[in-house]
Amino acid sequence: SIDLDGRVALVTGGARGLGAAYVRALHAAGARVVIADLLRDEGEALAAELGSDARYVHLDVTDEDSWALATASALDAFGSIDVLVNNAGIANAAPIEHLTLAKWDAVIAVNLTGVFLGCRAVVPAMKARGSGSIINISSVEGMRGSPGLHGYTASKFGVRGLSQSLAVELGTFGIRVNSVHPGLILTDMTTRIDPSKLDIPLGRPAVPDEVAGTIVFLASDASAFTSGAEFVVDGGMIA
Ligand code: NAD
Repeated sequence: SIDLDGRVALVTGGARGLGAAYVRALHAAGARVVIADLLRDEGEALAAELGSDARYVHLDVTDEDSWALATASALDAFGSIDVLVNNAGIANAAPIEHLTLAKWDAVIAVNLTGVFLGCRAVVPAMKARGSGSIINISSVEGMRGSPGLHGYTASKFGVRGLSQSLAVELGTFGIRVNSVHPGLILTDMTTRIDPSKLDIPLGRPAVPDEVAGTIVFLASDASAFTSGAEFVVDGGMIA
C-alpha cells in the first residue's frame, strides 16, 4: 500500500470539491497536508477535522506575495513541501463574441498563471532537498476543444504544456512534474452540466474520491519513474 508518512503536501483550492478530496486522501495515506485556498472558513474547518497534521493557509494563487506568505507558513509549520498539487481553478463559458477580456484574464490568471507561480514558489525548497512531486490539474479540456470554453481550454492546454517544460527542466533535480486531466466530476463547478449529454463509456460522472487515487499515486514513490506524463481520469470519455 502507498505510504506518504513524513511527506508534506500543499493542495491549492484544497478547501472544497476535488481539492478537499485530494487533501483527505493524501492525509489518509500518511501525509501532512496544507490546505491553501481563498475560502478561510471551509479550509479551517477541514484542517480542524483532520487534526494536527493539517493546516489551513490563506492563498490567492494569482498573487506572488500570497504565494510567498503561504509557502513560508507551510515550511514553518511542517519543514518541507514535498508535494504540490496545483488544483485551484475556475471556469467560465461564453461564445467567443461574448467572451469579455475580463473573463478571459480571470480564468488565465487562476488556472494558468496560478500554476506557474505555485511551481516557481516551491521549486527552490524541492531543489534543496533533491526531490519533489508537482501535480498540475488540467482537464480533459486541456486535450480537446469544446464550445464556449475558450479561456478554460486555453488555460488547461497551457497547464499541460507548462508541466511538460518543467518535467524536462527539473528532472535532473529529482523533481517530477505530471498533469492530471479529470473528466466530469460532481462538484460545485459542474452543477449545471447534464451528464446525459456527454458520452461517458462508464455511463456516469465521477465523485471527487475517484480522482484522488491518481493524486496519491503521483505523490508517492510508487510513481518514482513517472514524470512528464498526462493522466486522463474521465471514465473513457475522450477515448
Ligand atoms: P470547485 O469550484 O469546487 O473548487 C475550486 C477551489 O479552488 C475552491 O475551493 C476555490 O475557493 C479555489 N480557488 C478558486 N480561485 C482561487 C484562487 N485565486 N486562489 C486560491 N484558491 C482558489 O472546483 P472543482 O470542481 O473542485 O475543481 C478543482 C480543479 O479541478 C479545477 O482546476 C478544475 O478546473 C479542475 N477540473 C474539474 C473538473 C470537474 O468536473 N469538476 C474536471 C476537470 C478539471
